[in-house]
Amino acid sequence: MQRGGRSQSRRDGRPPGLTGKEIGLYYKNLARERKKEAKNENKIKIGCDVSVPPGVLTRVKEYMEQLKAARETGQEQLDAKFQDQFRHLLSVNFDAFIEETKKQNQDLQLRNSSLDAQLEELQRERFQRADFQERYKERMKLPTMSHAAEIIKAVEKNQVLLIVGSTGCGKTTQVPQLLLDDSISKGMGSGCRIVCTQPRRISAITVAERVSYERAEALGHSVGYQIRLESCKPRERASITYCTTGILLQQLQGDPLLHNVSVLLLDEIHERSVETDLLMALLKIILPHRPALKVILMSATVREQDFCNYFNTCPMFRIEGVMHPVEMLYLEDVLALTKYQFDTRKNKRARPRSDQSDHRPMIEPYIRRVRDRYDSKVLEQLRLPCSEGCADIDFIANLIYYICTMKSEGAILVFVPGYSQISELHNTLLNPRLALGQRWRDHLLVYPLHSMLPSVEQQSVFRRAPSGKRKVIISTIIAETSVTIDDVVYVINTGRTKVSSYDIETNIQSLEECWVTHANTQQRKGRAGRVQPGICYNLFSRAREALMSEVPTPEILRSKLESIILSLKLLHIDDPYAFFPTMIDAPAQKAVSTAINLLNRIEALDNHGQLTPLGMHLARMPIDPQMGKMILISALFRCLDPITSVAAALSYKSPFYTPMDKEQRVDEAKRRLSQNMRSDHIMLHYTICGYRESRQAHRDRDFCYNNFLSKMTLQQLERMKQQFSELLYNSKFLTSTNCMDESSNMNSEKIPLLRAIIGGGLYPNMAHLCTSRQIKNRVRAIHKMFTDDGRRVNFHPSSVNSGKSGFDSNYFVYFQRQKSTDLFLLDATMVFPMALIIFGDGVESGVIDSTHYISVAKTYYFKCNPETAAVVIDLRTSLELLLLEKALYPAPIKENSDAYKLIRAIELLLSIDDKIGEDYDLMSADEIDDI
Ligand code: ADP
Ligand code: MG
Repeated sequence: MQRGGRSQSRRDGRPPGLTGKEIGLYYKNLARERKKEAKNENKIKIGCDVSVPPGVLTRVKEYMEQLKAARETGQEQLDAKFQDQFRHLLSVNFDAFIEETKKQNQDLQLRNSSLDAQLEELQRERFQRADFQERYKERMKLPTMSHAAEIIKAVEKNQVLLIVGSTGCGKTTQVPQLLLDDSISKGMGSGCRIVCTQPRRISAITVAERVSYERAEALGHSVGYQIRLESCKPRERASITYCTTGILLQQLQGDPLLHNVSVLLLDEIHERSVETDLLMALLKIILPHRPALKVILMSATVREQDFCNYFNTCPMFRIEGVMHPVEMLYLEDVLALTKYQFDTRKNKRARPRSDQSDHRPMIEPYIRRVRDRYDSKVLEQLRLPCSEGCADIDFIANLIYYICTMKSEGAILVFVPGYSQISELHNTLLNPRLALGQRWRDHLLVYPLHSMLPSVEQQSVFRRAPSGKRKVIISTIIAETSVTIDDVVYVINTGRTKVSSYDIETNIQSLEECWVTHANTQQRKGRAGRVQPGICYNLFSRAREALMSEVPTPEILRSKLESIILSLKLLHIDDPYAFFPTMIDAPAQKAVSTAINLLNRIEALDNHGQLTPLGMHLARMPIDPQMGKMILISALFRCLDPITSVAAALSYKSPFYTPMDKEQRVDEAKRRLSQNMRSDHIMLHYTICGYRESRQAHRDRDFCYNNFLSKMTLQQLERMKQQFSELLYNSKFLTSTNCMDESSNMNSEKIPLLRAIIGGGLYPNMAHLCTSRQIKNRVRAIHKMFTDDGRRVNFHPSSVNSGKSGFDSNYFVYFQRQKSTDLFLLDATMVFPMALIIFGDGVESGVIDSTHYISVAKTYYFKCNPETAAVVIDLRTSLELLLLEKALYPAPIKENSDAYKLIRAIELLLSIDDKIGEDYDLMSADEIDDI
């Protein structure tokens, strides 16, 4: 390739100064490169023709002309506030930002002596009260309280203190109270403002409620909480606020030195969530600037030395809990005790778990080792993969009945991975099929415990069961450390949990069920020994335990980093490559560069890694930036309701649950709801619409039951949609906060547009279907499909596209890809080439072998006449400009405005695909050759 201009090299490009052997080598390499190039060029396969009929093209052109004319004549009005904020963010670096906020806060005077005296007096009175006294006596039994004086002293002497103690010893509820009461009684109450972070919303609320109760006060007096979308804040001074870690991170954006906080407690840091890890790294920057700020790190006994080292060997305070001995039983023991036999026919019908393939090689050698110790019937059961974990809910129910029959009083705590197992076990216990279950049903008080339950329902779980009744709590991982229930004597540990994982190679994050670690099992075991000696029933064998990891992988190492990088930018931390290595565990460089690259591709960052105006909007959304961009575009294109449904379900979770054995019926329900749109995402939108309608007709219970939908998830999705709309309204992209408002949904019925916007949002997660053949006498079709990294994939059986043939387009976008027996797309939406060309990136036109083409990301090539290519590329530029303009001057696009012409043009181009088989000839999927 000639670089042009004055060049010293020869005509063939050979660099000057090469000698003998080097010249030979140079030409050899050159030949190899050329060969490779030629091969690549040959490999390009040009797909279907996307040329637009001349009549349509002329109309598109007309729209574009009007748009251009308008752009030259006037600029829309300016949102000065956003401009200022954006300019400030770009121009002020972190150090300058800190100095700025220091200046703003230099006159901040928290102390007030008359208030101090008042607080002291009130406290004296409260201490006298009988209800306080009674509760105080209970508190004094907690190990933390016997170290009260030492803790207060240690905090006084050190800026950073690490408190380590077993779960339930009183860290979360007592330490903040100790410090508050101490400062009040020393006459310094007005200067005391304590913030304690919690990893979960539910623990922030329950703890705040508990502490108010212990103080014999109403919630919101000296103690309150703050979580996203909900708060009950305490008084300004002399107070304790329990908040989620996310809330504190958000506050740092406005006040990076936390001038309003005197004591900060980071709780549950052993969980190693992204947020606490980030906060710890930020605190290391903040601390030298705020000598008066006290920081207390609180952790259960898991790798506590790591934290101590990270904070320059800060002092560590250990609180030894009083623990009763807990007997550990494993699956083989449970099988021997209960004599349970699995129904293999039922379990065969269930879809195999993705990680069941390692069962045999694990269990066979173990069985040989323990042959003499266990009955052969037990070993037979142990051989079945469905015996482990929570594959068989009836087994868990059976164990509960066994405990009820054979064991003395005490609550049973069952750990399962997620909501669907909670509800399944709940149903099994309350509507038992077998006589044994029926006998026990009325003796059980069953409580589901899950982060999504409303807090009122949560409280009753702490109450002791009346005599004759046995309390059974079915919980996710939240009862492991953040919620303590005292009267638990029996723990059933299925050993399963849900963990998000991230594959750097494919850049895909997914939430998967997997085995817990030793650290989790230790914590779970501890839950059984709080009031008396207890028993922990592990539903996995000792052989399985030997394969488990020691501790969970820190979340930052298994997360996509795009959102984190964007939120760091809001904190004026500009260089992620410099910041991440300061964290306690740094993500791989490749993960950082992949994230930056993606942010650049979606135009959240420019080519220098600087935040763009669009990036700033996306950074403010509590959602992954790709989804954020998708809902932002849906606001501009006025199809908000469907797209926010998709974004909410993809970023939170699917509203469907799958009882074991019922997979096919769930699949059928989904297909019904999908209305044959060939899209799992549009199906989600239809599902939410269907739910709304059923609710209006007071049939929502039936609707949810018949379609295997979780009402709780649907309600949460609606809340999220509402939140998105409010955010977009606040940043002026919408005229209403209601996501169903007519003005925001003028185009919500236009399916080709919805497909395209979903395609644009999920892009570049693309798959190309080469063939789908309906084989004679078979119901299901055979697919040959590849993702753009060349891997063969198929639709997961739970996707509405699975087993279908006769698609109108060969292109699909997906959100999640999962490896189990095969590589599967868990969800997919069929998209048309024009949508990819308009919303994809790296679009180019050219000629190969005298065929004109247009290509997307150098991966997908479509036959396209030069006229169409020119107009479409022009249109893309206009769309980019429009997005930039809208990001800088947020405003809805008015109907019939000039900008709206562009949307009309895009709609027109997309609508062509709707008429396949009528007047427009597009090759159908089944005609295309194999690769
Ligand atoms: P840690 O933080 O050390 O795990 P906590 O401070 O959360 O311990 O809990 C201390 C004790 O307070 C628990 O053992 C339990 O007895 C009691 N407790 C905590 N929360 C509640 C609640 N919501 N209802 C009843 N008791 C509670
Ligand atoms: Mg705690």
